[in-house]
Amino acid sequence: VDFLFEMKKSNKNSKMNRNIQLFPVKVTKIRQEAAAVFVLSVEKKINFRAGQVVAIDLVKNGKPRMYSIASRENAAEIEILFDEKPDGCLTPKLSKLKPGDIVFCSEAFGNFLPTTDKAWFIAAGTGVAPFVSMLRSGYAAHKTLVHGGRFLQSFYFQDEISMALGDNYIRCCSQESSSDVYAGRLTQYLSNQNGLPQDVLFYLCGSPAMVVEVRDILIRKGVDFSKIVAETYF
Ligand SMILES: Cc1cc2nc3c(=O)[nH]c(=O)nc-3n(C[C@H](O)[C@H](O)[C@H](O)COP(=O)(O)OP(=O)(O)OC[C@H]3O[C@@H](n4cnc5c(N)ncnc54)[C@H](O)[C@@H]3O)c2cc1C
Repeated sequence: VDFLFEMKKSNKNSKMNRNIQLFPVKVTKIRQEAAAVFVLSVEKKINFRAGQVVAIDLVKNGKPRMYSIASRENAAEIEILFDEKPDGCLTPKLSKLKPGDIVFCSEAFGNFLPTTDKAWFIAAGTGVAPFVSMLRSGYAAHKTLVHGGRFLQSFYFQDEISMALGDNYIRCCSQESSSDVYAGRLTQYLSNQNGLPQDVLFYLCGSPAMVVEVRDILIRKGVDFSKIVAETYF
């Protein structure tokens, strides 16, 4: 059975595609993290678990988009990390927000939840956001993070992640090089591993193409399908 089809089908049945109630929240901060990548903070009116998402829009009854929460459980604000898509409906407007502006935000939802077990977190681009939330929320023990990005500036929150994970933080850069970064895509990094641990969970987050490619590599390397947990940004 096609994996992407199954994912789409299950998302159709999830809360994501039901009528999502949005309520107004105030923007507290916005900063540019890298070229066309921003961190937006809004006041927190909801509870959430690390790894969950919120739906956001600039109007109450529009077509909200989903964003992983990057902040710590119990933080005073909800922080999201987003890519500005130049031709997108929402993100070019999000990047122009100022503190004090109002956006509409949903309750938190989603089942991409943290674990205290050993796990490898594998993220591409802004897909690192739920893992940042998990690390900030006290789930750093027994974790390895493999993050893929095109440029050296694509390793969002890298100082914080380095502090939390030390040598268990692997940055894979496909278009620039530096002595402390693996030169190549994260899929190349994974493919070149002689063996992958079989006793850990693998958490994947990124585009559907990345999730499918990484899933195939893991399965080829003997990882049991049941050990793979994925969040796709589509
Ligand atoms: C569970 C989940 C979590 C997510 N978390 C994050 C996150 O943390 N950070 C993040 O940056 N993103 C995240 N996303 C993606 C996010 O929801 C948006 O899809 C993204 O921000 C783009 O929104 P937009 O309105 O700016 O662009 P859109 O208007 O949705 O367009 C996106 C791209 O698709 C193209 N496009 C639009 N319509 C068509 C069409 N009909 N045919 C062909 N191409 C088209 C556009 O040109 C553009 O390049 C997540 C998605 C999901 C499902």
